[in-house]
Amino acid sequence: MDLNELTAHEILDLVKSGKTTPSDVNQAVLKNVKDKDKNVKAYVRTCDDAELTTPKTGAAFPIPIAIKDNICMTGQETTCCSKILFGFKPTYDATVIKKLKASGALFVGKANMDEFAFGSSTENSCFGPSRNPWNLECVPGGSSGGSAAAVAAHEAIWALGSDTGGSIRQPASFCGVVGVKPTYGRVSRYGLIAFASSLDQIGPITKDVRDSAILLNIISGYDEMDSTSINTPVPDYTKALTGDVKGLTIGIPKEFFIDGLDPEVKKSIEDAIEVLKKKGATFKEVSLPHSEYSVATYYILATAEASSNLARFDGVRFGLRKQPSTLRKSPIVDMFEETRDAGFGAEAKRRIMLGTYSLSSGYYDAYYLRAQKGRTLIKNDFDKVFTECDAILGPTAPTTAFKIGEKSDDPLSMYLSDIYTIAVNLAGIPAMSLPCGFSKAGLPIGLQIFAKNFGEETMLRIAHAYEQATEWHKKKVKL
Ligand code: GLN
Repeated sequence: MDLNELTAHEILDLVKSGKTTPSDVNQAVLKNVKDKDKNVKAYVRTCDDAELTTPKTGAAFPIPIAIKDNICMTGQETTCCSKILFGFKPTYDATVIKKLKASGALFVGKANMDEFAFGSSTENSCFGPSRNPWNLECVPGGSSGGSAAAVAAHEAIWALGSDTGGSIRQPASFCGVVGVKPTYGRVSRYGLIAFASSLDQIGPITKDVRDSAILLNIISGYDEMDSTSINTPVPDYTKALTGDVKGLTIGIPKEFFIDGLDPEVKKSIEDAIEVLKKKGATFKEVSLPHSEYSVATYYILATAEASSNLARFDGVRFGLRKQPSTLRKSPIVDMFEETRDAGFGAEAKRRIMLGTYSLSSGYYDAYYLRAQKGRTLIKNDFDKVFTECDAILGPTAPTTAFKIGEKSDDPLSMYLSDIYTIAVNLAGIPAMSLPCGFSKAGLPIGLQIFAKNFGEETMLRIAHAYEQATEWHKKKVKL
């Protein structure tokens, strides 16, 4: 097997026993990027700075990683795959990057994403879409599609993504890898370019559950630079991987098994339930009665927050600036308008308009305030279920990966593909996706596990027990 096909924990074991070196692994990954990325297009930029790519002696985790292009790295162009940030080189590292550097990480490059993380397919990237390594005609999911495609195509050993409404879990599901959205406040958002600040969270995308536990340990922890970071100790997540789920009660929300859920996905989830039952978990039907409002609630709150977060991109301080050729209103206003018109793509403009509308006087109470109330009801549903269950289980996405172009003219059908992922962000709880099957067409299917706030250990424990009992994570892309 090629070194780039290994998991991080396998690599660390081999390095420890002297059977390989971080440098050999890095070379294997870089060669694979050179060979494969012209087809996969997982990366929008590779790192060529020796500081970031040379293994350091004695490093604890010298593992090649892909970084979503909305996470700031000193001196490395960071664009959120938006023209408006062309040329923007942050002067500081995001906290997760600082932690990765301290762990000895090897940075392969910046991964493709939907512009400002607006989307579920990476088709909204100003650099064009990434492709699903299992079928190059399909999307890898989004918005962290480049990160998930890089891991699935063995162009990185693991990756960081960000998840505002499913952007780690849905691409993980489409690409047959593991993706974790941590509890809101578990991982610092400092240096993550904000989409919707009350929902955003950075998390790992990896080849198996153990790697997710390891990477989550590396990036988690309180950070005084993020006022929403929570000061609670970080357990050793790998200790939760006992292989045992006896005594755990897992809820199955009846609202999840609805029209629009692909029968092949449904079957794989039912099979996964059987696997976990055999391992000793108890299942019970539960209800999340307000989940039907989650898409509407999310798209009001997320666009409202996005419209104010994106106000800072005006051509003055960051990235692109267009100098108007004729005077219309005033030199400065003309410059703002032309810069924003040229810099933002269609979906970003749509969201700025939607968000500005729902925050405007006269509509605020009808939309924004109502959505905030909806958010509380959705969160209360989860709180109630977690008084009787240790975790919840369901599909990550209603379908497998769709074809490039299939939904790009229909924003509503694209938004509906987030139906199973977005309630989690509204509630702040952790959730993850892991492979649980393949469709007849050969596309991966994802199983989603939800836990209560700071319940990552229970979630990872169930995921790992399921993974131990199945072989899905061992299936490798051949490109
Ligand atoms: N697909 C969702 C959206 O378009 C979620 C994106 C995300 O999590 N960043 O907003």
